[in-house]
Formats: sequence, C-alpha cells, structure tokens
Amino acid sequence: MDTTKMQPESLMMSYGYKPSLSEGAIKCPIFQTSTFVFNTAMEGKRFFELAYGLREKDAGEELGLIYSRLNNPDLEILENRLCLWDQAEDCAVFESGMSAISTAMMEFMVPGDLLLYSRPVYGGTDHFINHFLKKLTIDAVGFYATDTKEQIIERIEATGKAARLTMIHIETPANPTNALIDIEMCAEIKNHFSTKEKQVILSVDNTYMGPVWQHPLKHGADLVLYSATKYIGGHSDVIAGACLGSKELMARVKGLRTFLGNMAGPWTGWLLMRSLETLKIRMEQAALNASHVARFLENHAKVEKIYYLGTIPKNGSARDKMIYSRQFSSSGAMIAFDIKGGEAEAFRFLDSLKLIKLAVSLGGTESLAEHPQTMTHADVPMEDKKVMHITEKLIRLSVGVEHYNDIIADIGQALDQI
Ligand SMILES: *Cc1c(COP(=O)(O)O)cnc(C)c1O
Repeated sequence: MDTTKMQPESLMMSYGYKPSLSEGAIKCPIFQTSTFVFNTAMEGKRFFELAYGLREKDAGEELGLIYSRLNNPDLEILENRLCLWDQAEDCAVFESGMSAISTAMMEFMVPGDLLLYSRPVYGGTDHFINHFLKKLTIDAVGFYATDTKEQIIERIEATGKAARLTMIHIETPANPTNALIDIEMCAEIKNHFSTKEKQVILSVDNTYMGPVWQHPLKHGADLVLYSATKYIGGHSDVIAGACLGSKELMARVKGLRTFLGNMAGPWTGWLLMRSLETLKIRMEQAALNASHVARFLENHAKVEKIYYLGTIPKNGSARDKMIYSRQFSSSGAMIAFDIKGGEAEAFRFLDSLKLIKLAVSLGGTESLAEHPQTMTHADVPMEDKKVMHITEKLIRLSVGVEHYNDIIADIGQALDQI
C-alpha cells in the first residue's frame, strides 16, 4: 500500500518519523538539544558543505543534523507534515506568524522595491508594512477586495514604481470582515509585472482557512504563510508560524531564518505535531458550530448584519460566489457581525459573555470574541477602517469546539443585556 497517496489526516500521527530511531517511542520525542554529535569529522565537514550550499546533494542525501538553529527533528518532521496539507515542496516553521511573514518579506524585497498588499490585513502585518518596511524605503500600495484587476494595475502604475514591484501579499478571507480576494487574479497581476530578470512573488496569508479549507499554491501563489498560533496550534497555548512553497524559494526563506535565528524551538515543534493529529476534526467541528451560530445571528433583532462566508452562496455578489466556489471547501469558523448601536452596545455585549472569552486571537478550541476597531485593528487609520466596515458596532467571533447550543445560548443572553 502506498501511504503517500493517503489523506493528510491519516498521516499526521506517523509521517516522517521512524520509531526505531527513538527507542521504539510511538510519538516523536522532544529533541531538547542545541547541538548534534557528528560520527566523524568527515561527516561534520560534509554536513556543513550542504548547509552552506558549497556542494550539491548526492542522490537521496538529506542534510544531517547539525545545530538546532539550522535543523532539529521536531521541526523537520513537523515541516514535512505541514507540506502534506498544502501539497508544498518545503516548509519552514517559525517562532511566530509575524516572524514567518516578516522573514519572507525581508528575503524577497530590497530597499526601493514596491509591495502590493490587500486591505485589510492582519494588524501586525499592516504595522510591519507601513512602519518597518517604510523605514527600509520599501513602499507599499494597498488595494481593496472590491477593486478589479484593472483598477489594481492602475494603482500600481500610479506609484511610478511599477518596475520595482517585487511582492504581492494578500490575506483571504480578510481579517476581520471575511472579504474575499481572488488568488488567481493576483497571480495574473503577478505575471503582468514579472519579467525574465524579476519574478514577482505572490504570498497568501492562509491563517483563516488553512491548511484544511484553502490551498493557495493550487491557485498560483508562490508562498503560503500561517500564524500557526491559530488553527494549526489550535489550543491557544503556543505562538508559532509557518511558510511553505517551492524548494527553491524555501531555501532562501530558510537561509534568512538561520541567520535571524527565528525558527521555532523543539518544544513548539512537538506541540504543533500533537495539534496536527486533531487539526481536521477540530476545524470541522468549529465550522459546523459556526454555521449554527450564523443562523442564530442572522435572525436576531439586535444584529444588523453578519459577515460570514456561509451567506455567500445565497446572498453574495456574482464575483464572491465565483471566488467562494473556486477557493474554499468550507465556510470556516470565523464570523463578524454588526450589532445594532455603537461602541457602548458592542462593549455591553462583550462584557456580558460568560462561556465565550473576551480575547483576541482565533482558531483555538474555545470560542473568542473581540472588538476589532479598538483592539486588533486599533492601529489602522480611521478612514481605512470605514472603507473596510471596521466600525464601532463590529464584533468578531472565533467559534470553537464547544457544543453549539451552549455558544448560542451565551450569545443570546449577552445580546439580551443590550
Ligand atoms: C495572528 C495572525 C498573524 C500573526 O501571527 P502570530 O502568530 O501572532 O505572530 C498573522 N496573520 C493572521 C491572519 C493572524 O490571524
């Protein structure tokens, strides 16, 4: 039987790990070690030749274990397992989602370059782009989910720096409003501005729907980025990130990671491997719960509007329907909604929740609620927030794996307090 043809969820318990190399332990131990002993000096020399790219790999040769900033079994096995979900050639795991995003951006752009990015993006990404990259004289131009391909191309041309466009970074569905962006359209924009000398890199932050329900590499993305703190970790107990792509691009990302030293440690690697075993059932339960919660909110007198992917097949625009059916295999477990009223009513609701915790972050086993305008997106300029519907009445919900009747009862009693 060919195990490589199996579904990822069947392989999360075993893939890439040989019990016989670890005293028969059924689970991969935590290799809590900084360095690895070479059998011979010649072996050490040959490992370093590969690590620094001084020679090509022999057929079937893998990089031997050297030092935990370069490689560690807990990270390597985890990276191999993450590759299965996105059908990526290679993966690098980081100590946070932000370190994955910032390392990829720093590797592929140099001062004077131009970045195109979708808005809204995660608050930390937005800050990195508009503060740190600006300091490096890397300019950024944003676009909205409602822009057409022609409008986006115009926005790029209008900067006068189209020839310096080197990277496109998008987040879809976008946090917090679930706005949809067409990855294949972005791949066309990338091709439009790529030349023989300069390939534009398209990266997709897939934290909201990945790695189970959306696979950006299939739609023409070059890099997939994750906050593994969210669904991949899934228990609100670890901060981590990941970047996936072709062997060639990942060699560059891993190279910079080695010198920034922002790889995840072995304990984080072990925790994420443990989490991957239940990834699919956690995400499926959360999505099922979200569909019930959304139905309850849709019919509630104190709710003005909901932003949930599950409403698209029925009420979405033609364009959203097309993107939805092409890119997603689920409606996900993230819901945002406008409460009737303003900040006072929104805060009243949040302060009245009993089971659902008032906290930022998402994708964990427990349901969380927050107020994007004053919390996760506090740093985004007010006029941008208006365009993106991040108003004072907007609440974001990350639906967890509790019983949906209990989640709904909690939301119901908190809405009654308004
Ligand atoms: C949380 C998050 C990040 C940042 O990840 P950290 O693990 O907190 O560094 C990036 N993108 C999205 C969409 C997120 O939700």
